[in-house]
Amino acid sequence: MINVEKALNQILDAIVPLGTEKITLLDALGRVTGEDVIAGRDIPPKDNSAMDGYAVRFADIREASPEKPVTLKVIEDIPAGTIPQKTVGAGEASRIMTGAPIPEGADTVVRMEDTAKDGQKVKIVATIRKAQDIRRAGEDVREGEIVIPRGGVVRPADVGMLASLGRSLVTVFQRPLVAILATGDELVDIDEKPSPWKIVNSNSYSLAAQVRECGATPMLVGIAKDRREDLVVKFKAAMRGDIIISSGGVSVGDYDLVKDIMKEVGNQMQFWQVAMKPGKPLAFGAMGGIPVFGLPGNPVSSMVSFEQFIRPSLLKMMGHKNLFRRAVRATLNDDIVKSKGARHFIRGSVTWAEGRYRVTTTGEQGSGILKSMVRANGLIVLPEDVGACKKGDEVTVQLLDNSLDLTPQPEYL
Ligand code: AMP
Ligand code: MG
Repeated sequence: MINVEKALNQILDAIVPLGTEKITLLDALGRVTGEDVIAGRDIPPKDNSAMDGYAVRFADIREASPEKPVTLKVIEDIPAGTIPQKTVGAGEASRIMTGAPIPEGADTVVRMEDTAKDGQKVKIVATIRKAQDIRRAGEDVREGEIVIPRGGVVRPADVGMLASLGRSLVTVFQRPLVAILATGDELVDIDEKPSPWKIVNSNSYSLAAQVRECGATPMLVGIAKDRREDLVVKFKAAMRGDIIISSGGVSVGDYDLVKDIMKEVGNQMQFWQVAMKPGKPLAFGAMGGIPVFGLPGNPVSSMVSFEQFIRPSLLKMMGHKNLFRRAVRATLNDDIVKSKGARHFIRGSVTWAEGRYRVTTTGEQGSGILKSMVRANGLIVLPEDVGACKKGDEVTVQLLDNSLDLTPQPEYL
């Protein structure tokens, strides 16, 4: 049996990022860029005005002040988006709007507030600095500059930057298609009426939600009976995916056949069993080059195994560099019973109060108890060499979501 760290390293070594695709800018939010995005032009493209006002020659207004206004002749109107037609000569000014190009001859903008209109003339009634209120060509971005490096996650500001560069299509890493297979003779699908001894297949749905939450695309391939023939048929169907997740059938029971299928000719089994709780009977391998995870069937085991191993794998496939959940140190609110040897993941609820995180276990921790997962926003990670923990101990907690109650409200709100 290998430990969690070794299992994770083996898995991540076997997982390779997918190829890239071109998508429209609006779909790019949250995706990872598959190319260095290089500016094809300067932004702004030309020197332009940062204010509504007048474009002037500084030499003319050097001496201007409220007491000694300087009067200039207005020769042109330059709204934003138009090309100036006239050169500003000595004693002249062009009326200019924010974002309009600076006309030839002018080297300074005087904002409207510092002027007084006087028929076809304008009075400069304040002291002005040279080159004031001019935005220089390329002051934001220079042509040829890398504005978003390959491997960056596209955020709203990046969308704006791409738009300003005229990039309506962006190259990003593909999303993996994740085949999800449930196994077990006791399972029925969600819309079937379960007889009293049947269990509704919930794993396929929680796993699909986890897949979607990290940005990949789930594909449900149904429920396989605990029989070789049916498992082979369903696994073959699952091979349309970029990665396969099955749940159930990997323990030591008489009908736990998934490992055998994974070992068959052409399939590679890398390891089975990890020193962790829940999730010990995890199997990892490949079928025809497609990575396959055989997760244990208990609902919490399958979710926790997904969190530890599959989420980082999917993120790697999608080009992400940051593969892991945020973890915080928190003060434990209860005692936890544990023996040394395996790594334990305990469902907990994290809160922030009086300047620190605290974590409370969310009840019964059996690997079939989904309710304590429902109530959890984090997993307390108790390492292999740690034994029982006491209330008041500091522990590490992986945060499973961005619950608002984790962060203190700033005082200004
Ligand atoms: P197994 O790993 O196949 O031995 O299953 C362990 C436990 O998880 C059994 O009680 C199963 O009924 C349950 N289980 C297996 N697969 C699913 C599933 N897809 N949805 C809900 N429970 C499941
Ligand atoms: Mg089973």
